Amino acid sequence: SSRKTDRAPPRVLAFANQKGGVGKTTTAINLATALAANHKVLLLDLDPQGNASTGLGIAREHRAAGSYALLVEGRPLAELLRPTQVANLSILPADPDLAGAEIELVGLDDREHRLAKAFRDAPEALAEFDYVFFDCPPSLGLITLNALVAADGVLVPLQTEFFALEGISQITRTIERVRRALNPRLRLDGIVLTMMDRRNNLSELVASDVRGFFKDKVFETAIPRNVRVSEAPSHGLPVLLYDFRSPGAQAYVKLAAEFLKRERARIRAT
Ligand code: ADP
Ligand code: MG
Repeated sequence: SSRKTDRAPPRVLAFANQKGGVGKTTTAINLATALAANHKVLLLDLDPQGNASTGLGIAREHRAAGSYALLVEGRPLAELLRPTQVANLSILPADPDLAGAEIELVGLDDREHRLAKAFRDAPEALAEFDYVFFDCPPSLGLITLNALVAADGVLVPLQTEFFALEGISQITRTIERVRRALNPRLRLDGIVLTMMDRRNNLSELVASDVRGFFKDKVFETAIPRNVRVSEAPSHGLPVLLYDFRSPGAQAYVKLAAEFLKRERARIRAT
């Protein structure tokens, strides 16, 4: 059974990169779905665009209260969680009001700590899960900051294109700063190369540069560019359910196996 038997807190990981369109949401949804085969997973949609919610079949008009209610209104997490069509995968959807959160948070007490506090106040609801993923917006504003303060680690999806290395230095500096000032637990846990195009020399060149610099922080499994991956969200499905045999889905299955292997190694090392 995949039901968690211990009451230990879950592993909490933020999917972050200030660039949009690099595969944060796609990776969060599909890694979560692959892990849900054997684990209980919760995905928080923290992007006002709500792509993770849509991609898991929760249409905008059915979102009701979600991450805005948690972050800004301080409503309890347990009240706001919803099941998805994927067994063992729950979601906190992005409500339409989330678009205002970035600005409203500025005026609130403890503005960087709202998500961490919501988590501290919900140990029972969280103990049910093995993994909690934050799908962050494409910026390093207060929503992403809340995610980094509440997380144990960060996974950075990186599209293999010309400015990739420049982009990643910005997120790694932010992780360092948050670690020193706000959340000593925080680590860069891994970099996932996305939308790899093996026929494109630049893609290969950037991938080997990133591996040369970040070494084993980079997952061996790279996600190929695959049209089935880009079609899946319009059906409200993870690509794993939309077309399991597609190269994109199979890459996420492999990524999940590698992720679990790395998790076991990490636990052994602590
Ligand atoms: P982000 O969350 O970083 O903004 P997304 O995950 O939404 O990025 O991906 C951006 C766009 O690229 C989406 O339209 C998505 O469907 C598409 N996409 C993501 N990964 C792949 C892939 N491996 N192959 C093809 N299209 C992809
Ligand atoms: Mg996104």
